Amino acid sequence: MTRPNHVVYTSTNLFQSAHWLANFHVITELSKATCQLFICLKLSLHQTPKNYVYMASFCSLNKLVHPQKLSSIFTYPIQSKLLLRFQIMNSSFNHDPRSVACATMYQVPGLDANERDGILDQTFEKYTTKTIKRNGKGTAIVWFRNDLRILDNEALFKAWVSSEMVLPVYCVDPRLFETTYYFGFHKTGASRAQFLIECLVDLKRNLMKRGLNLLIKHGTPEEVIPSLAKSFGAHTVYAQKESCSEELNIEKLVIKGLRQVMLPSSSNKSTIVGSTDGSQLQLIWGSTMYHIDDLPFNTSSLPDVYTQFRKSVEAKCRIRGCIKLPASLGPPPIVDNWGGPPSIDQLGLQSQKVIKGMKFVGGESAALSRVSEYFWKKDLLRMYKETRNGMLGSDYSTKFSPWLASGSLSPRFIFEEVKRYERERQANDSTYWVLFELIWRDYFRFLSIKYGNSLFHLGGPRKVERQWSQDQKLFDSWKDGCTGYPLIDANMRELSTTGFMSNRGRQIVCSFLVRDMGIDWRMGAEWFETCLLDYDPCSNYGNWTYGAGVGNDPREDRYFSIPKQAQTYDPEGRYVAYWLPQLEELPKSERHFPGKSYIQQIVPLKYGNVNKHHSQDRGMVAGRSNFGGKQTKGNRR
Ligand SMILES: Cc1cc2nc3c(=O)[nH]c(=O)nc-3n(C[C@H](O)[C@H](O)[C@H](O)COP(=O)(O)OP(=O)(O)OC[C@H]3O[C@@H](n4cnc5c(N)ncnc54)[C@H](O)[C@@H]3O)c2cc1C
Repeated sequence: MTRPNHVVYTSTNLFQSAHWLANFHVITELSKATCQLFICLKLSLHQTPKNYVYMASFCSLNKLVHPQKLSSIFTYPIQSKLLLRFQIMNSSFNHDPRSVACATMYQVPGLDANERDGILDQTFEKYTTKTIKRNGKGTAIVWFRNDLRILDNEALFKAWVSSEMVLPVYCVDPRLFETTYYFGFHKTGASRAQFLIECLVDLKRNLMKRGLNLLIKHGTPEEVIPSLAKSFGAHTVYAQKESCSEELNIEKLVIKGLRQVMLPSSSNKSTIVGSTDGSQLQLIWGSTMYHIDDLPFNTSSLPDVYTQFRKSVEAKCRIRGCIKLPASLGPPPIVDNWGGPPSIDQLGLQSQKVIKGMKFVGGESAALSRVSEYFWKKDLLRMYKETRNGMLGSDYSTKFSPWLASGSLSPRFIFEEVKRYERERQANDSTYWVLFELIWRDYFRFLSIKYGNSLFHLGGPRKVERQWSQDQKLFDSWKDGCTGYPLIDANMRELSTTGFMSNRGRQIVCSFLVRDMGIDWRMGAEWFETCLLDYDPCSNYGNWTYGAGVGNDPREDRYFSIPKQAQTYDPEGRYVAYWLPQLEELPKSERHFPGKSYIQQIVPLKYGNVNKHHSQDRGMVAGRSNFGGKQTKGNRR
């Protein structure tokens, strides 16, 4: 479609119909002040709900009005919530709206380094107490794993209390940079590796601010930790407990190594998970919002229906408070060379600069800043439930997951901030819904204990027998974003460019791969394992088994219809045009099904004619609203 350079719109034709939106790029040629005047004028003349949404969308897209002020300017009170939702779900605030294609990279959180430092200092101060006493002797080691934070880190806290000196260690384990189990992709892709490096740099800096440091060693934990324990004469090693077999195997190897170098300690007998044999590795539960010891059932009898789990924990468990910090964690032990994180090249990966979409900043300072930005600065928590299914921009959902997965952010801290927000601003369905989603995260973590390795097997926890294909051509078209379905292609390109994809997108691409293509779901799960910044084995494989219909709950089995999803979540094709700029030239109604002007569709859709936008999401069996081959190496992990 070619566009005239200067079209002068009169006030009568300006806001009349949906065509108005299709032309908004031309309208932006007019001065913003004039537009604003037009809009206010027309609002007073033609206040129809439809015009209301169009106009407000236009205003916010063109940054004429801050989204929070929209509802006060437009006078349709019932529509105001819908409008703000529409705006946030579809916005990518920091971009020039005239061309979604020329949009550049935007950082999450959108605060600069000074602001991030300020928020970290304030938060740490709030959680610092002078009343904790240190009563231990000698040296204790903290072995950091997926708990790359200081705030609410029980392993760090216990190490400090039980010693005169703490040695914090991180092992850059080469196995993390090998290949995935079945299909040989990079186990950690460049985006997550970069994020991890940033987490380590930030943790080191923050530990130094508190009188410690971080020793970064290259090698496996089973080599590094016992050897350090020996040379520093450490009495105990503290670490966060994991739940999946690769990580559990490493725990066993570390315990074995420690037994060879340390005498059994009588004063530090474990009272916590995973170390009942008095070995010197104290494994501490710290990854979930609800503590495993507080659950009203054993993990072996965990309910197989999420709602039952949720209702039970909500009724019977209390979420523990965050662990307070001492003012100083020092003194540090004497170490010749504290070391630093590796470069991407040293990890055998090719550095990948994010030039489009979201660039997440790794580390606890960024994590706390994102909470502050999302809850307090932008006041987005109050709309979360309405906006959470968006796909474009940084603000439709919290984006906490990368920091939760690396442990730079404690779910209990989020809980405390939600409660504070409810006290100081407002409590509504949205404030609750963030906790509802975090309970899903907890649930998948506990399920991984109940179901063990079956989570990684083709038949999943229910051992479902079904024929799957491993067609490489089909799989590559999915992975590379060349299926001929813009909604799939855009999501897959976002994933490989940024390491992130919305929850809505993940469900859609998962359904397409397993149901429309019939591809072995583990290929998709392993590709996610490579790419996702927030990769976590429990949430990833838990969600994939649900999406593939092999999860523990047979009711979690739904087909996502692309036409229906496109119509509901990207009605104007803004998201697809952002990631596939060639679609920008097309009328909005054609962006999702561009026909011959786009790549040929690699497979037909299982249900529904793509040219008719009326097919439904099909529950294989009625399910949760959130969801909407050959075995190469035997059992995984
Ligand atoms: C096929 C598939 C694979 C996934 N793989 C992962 C993964 O490896 N790691 C991961 O953290 N999430 C995974 N998810 C869940 C979900 O998509 C992401 O947690 C969410 O998109 C992260 O964005 P957010 O932080 O803005 O989420 P929000 O909507 O803001 O939710 C807040 C938090 O709740 C938790 N959460 C929300 N939805 C889920 C869910 N379905 N399962 C578990 N936790 C949830 C996350 O910790 C999230 O940060 C997957 C979902 C699907 C469908």
